[in-house]
Amino acid sequence: MNRKNRYNFAFIDEDAKREIRRKILKAVAIPGYQVPFASRELPIARGWGTGGLQVTLALIGPTDCLKVIDQGCDDSVNAVNIKHFVQSVTNVKITTDTTKATLIQTRHRIPEEPMNENQILVLQVPIPEALRNVEPSERQTRRMHAEGDYTRLWLYLYEDIVKYGDVSIGARYPVLVNGRYIMDPSPIPRWDIPKLHMAETLFIFSAGREKRIYAIPPYTDVKPLEFEDYKFCVEDFKGKQCARCGSKGVFLDEIIDDETGKRIYVCSDTGYCHKVASKSKRKNAISQNYQYKTAGSAG
Ligand SMILES: [Zn+2]
Repeated sequence: MNRKNRYNFAFIDEDAKREIRRKILKAVAIPGYQVPFASRELPIARGWGTGGLQVTLALIGPTDCLKVIDQGCDDSVNAVNIKHFVQSVTNVKITTDTTKATLIQTRHRIPEEPMNENQILVLQVPIPEALRNVEPSERQTRRMHAEGDYTRLWLYLYEDIVKYGDVSIGARYPVLVNGRYIMDPSPIPRWDIPKLHMAETLFIFSAGREKRIYAIPPYTDVKPLEFEDYKFCVEDFKGKQCARCGSKGVFLDEIIDDETGKRIYVCSDTGYCHKVASKSKRKNAISQNYQYKTAGSAG
């Protein structure tokens, strides 16, 4: 018997899957509300995406096509290992193409290409509580959510503006979901926050260590917190473009070029970058071929 066949389909037992699916349903029914769940032990350490992985394993079916990214990258150690693990216990198809995946597990990014209602994005979450910076007690934060008492978070943002002249939060920018719960969107850049608003896709957030699942169902109102005179804004990449594929208007990573030692920008979403780069390569090849042929026929 193959060693892999000794495991249940998708590794975790059916009772655990049912538990996670029930909690996902509750999370979908109350957008932005953190639902506690019985988080299981997995063969990877807590803090390496066990929350996201449990949701992926509870939802995945034999016909699914999986993509896993870490900071937008398909090839990082964490993403590759999670992919290998899920593939070994489910035998599903794996892809790096956002448009082909039915299920995407991610850490710290939302893919650049728009997703549709047949896809689910599972986000790994380190700290699920948006109020943790202003209140250390879990009991108190649960009360504050129940009463919609978000004064201290607003005060925190106000003090940020007084101290630094602007809201200094980069990743984990707090959002108001469906006009009711303030939610931590996990450490995605501000660039990705507008993608959560009225999206076609179901977003599921899961924290394995903290044992919390929450969700943004499709077509839900999601607003970043902002003041009338200090509006939320995304990272500024004006005048910059990807050094590999030439894309503009995407989230870029700043890196040092090995050869020249200069600062360059590349797409954070590697799957998207490869796609655009290979398309333009093909286009160049076709136009060169065309020029060759026309030159040939003229002669
Ligand atoms: Zn690129």
